[in-house]
Amino acid sequence: MFWADRIAQEIKEKVTPRRGAGKPILIRDEKTASGRVHVGSMRGVAIHGALAAALTDMGVANEFKYEINDFDPFDGLPNYLDASVYGPLLGSQLYKTPSPDPSAPNFAEFYGEEFKKVITDSGYHPEFYRASELYLSGKMDEAIRLVITHAKRIGEIYKEVSGSQKVSEWLPINVICENCGKVSMTKASDFDGETVAYTCVAVKLDWGGIGCGHEGRVSPFGGKAKLPWKPEWAAKWYVLGVDVEGAGKDHSTKGGARDVANHIARDVFGIEPPFDVPYEFFLVGGQKMSSSKGRGSSAREIADLVPPKIFRLALLGKEINQAFNFDPEGETIPTLFDQYDKLADSFAAGVQDDYARLFRLVENNMESEPSVPFRMRFSQLAFAVQMPHIDLYKAAEELKGSALTDADKAELDERARYAKNWLTSYAPEKYRFALQETLPEAASSLSTLQKQALTRIKELLEKSTSPEDLHTGIHALKDELSIPAGELFSAIYLAFLGKKEGPKAGWFLATLDKTFALTRLEEAAK
Ligand SMILES: [Zn+2]
Repeated sequence: MFWADRIAQEIKEKVTPRRGAGKPILIRDEKTASGRVHVGSMRGVAIHGALAAALTDMGVANEFKYEINDFDPFDGLPNYLDASVYGPLLGSQLYKTPSPDPSAPNFAEFYGEEFKKVITDSGYHPEFYRASELYLSGKMDEAIRLVITHAKRIGEIYKEVSGSQKVSEWLPINVICENCGKVSMTKASDFDGETVAYTCVAVKLDWGGIGCGHEGRVSPFGGKAKLPWKPEWAAKWYVLGVDVEGAGKDHSTKGGARDVANHIARDVFGIEPPFDVPYEFFLVGGQKMSSSKGRGSSAREIADLVPPKIFRLALLGKEINQAFNFDPEGETIPTLFDQYDKLADSFAAGVQDDYARLFRLVENNMESEPSVPFRMRFSQLAFAVQMPHIDLYKAAEELKGSALTDADKAELDERARYAKNWLTSYAPEKYRFALQETLPEAASSLSTLQKQALTRIKELLEKSTSPEDLHTGIHALKDELSIPAGELFSAIYLAFLGKKEGPKAGWFLATLDKTFALTRLEEAAK
């Protein structure tokens, strides 16, 4: 069974009874808007989105809520921001930190909006909300009271589960300093039922935040304080009634954040933690690159490299316990297109298997039959767009063997657009080609046997009637001349492209102006 169906089935069996009949299952995920969002966060969006779709398909009502966390502190300085402006703001809340661009009201909205756009552009439409809405509306107040009054138990959980020791008067709450507005540096104690005492500690933290030294008493309710990460995670499950929430495997280790939050959920809030879906990383160029350091690893930048359906394939195509490495400079992009083509062909042939389920999710179409247009292989198309003599529609029509439909043309145009973009940005050298107007220098290395082969190819081209005919004729030369395939084909590519590799030879030669091709073959064979 396809992973999304398998997990959805498990959710249906385990979660529906405790949720109660008729109530939709709540699926939740979140991202802190602390800068440009790394593409890895899209895997969570896609997994939760796929589970929502699979549950709906099973007839299980559900909602998918996505939180843009804007109430967290700004706790890391991305390298694309001016340190002299943003450095002193470290430790303040994201929704109160100024936006780097006047188009957004604050920092969190600026980066949150960019990420939301990637999510919706990728075909996912969760209900978005912000963490500040939960706190400022007072919805978190009851949970805050429960956390503060169970400080001792939470301290024990930290110690038992994760091994971290808290000081005895510690209260698990971060007051927002009334003097400097920072939240990370405050230490609270002595809850009297209405207010807590706090100090804004004027010691520089390892990530650069520093408090102002202010001391006071304040109510921790109504958005004047926020819970630390792990109690907050459990509090959100309690407040919203979350049934399903997965997280990256880095949070899901024993003694990790999820483990601590699960204990708090049971012991402090008296609820069963949501159904967990731990998943592996989505890497860029082999590393779990952080968005503050990496170039080109943000969700926006990676999503822009391929059409949304190909992006969804990258996000959903692997089992969730397997990492995916998106390498824009390697084979990832052509490979994804090839995988898509295989899925599409199999689906069009009526095969009903796991790949058909994946294809539906990739197509974002669980209800009707996705239509499958004609597709030119990406590597071939990437070659074709670099050849000014090739008319793309004509070439595709010849490959298809019949006239192109509007859907075929749209698919072709889309692929061509992404192929051109890839060629001007990340494509490896082996995919870059230029038809050489004069005999390339590299062709001077051709052996006598290769030259002999080119003379025979010239004869074949003179009388050939189709690319297939030419293709068969060229392949027959391997035996006829006892020439290894590599030498045979590289002779052709060296003569026209000045490189040892190229596209399908018969097809390529047939696309060329015949007189030009014959002249070149003759020149190269001299
Ligand atoms: Zn302060």
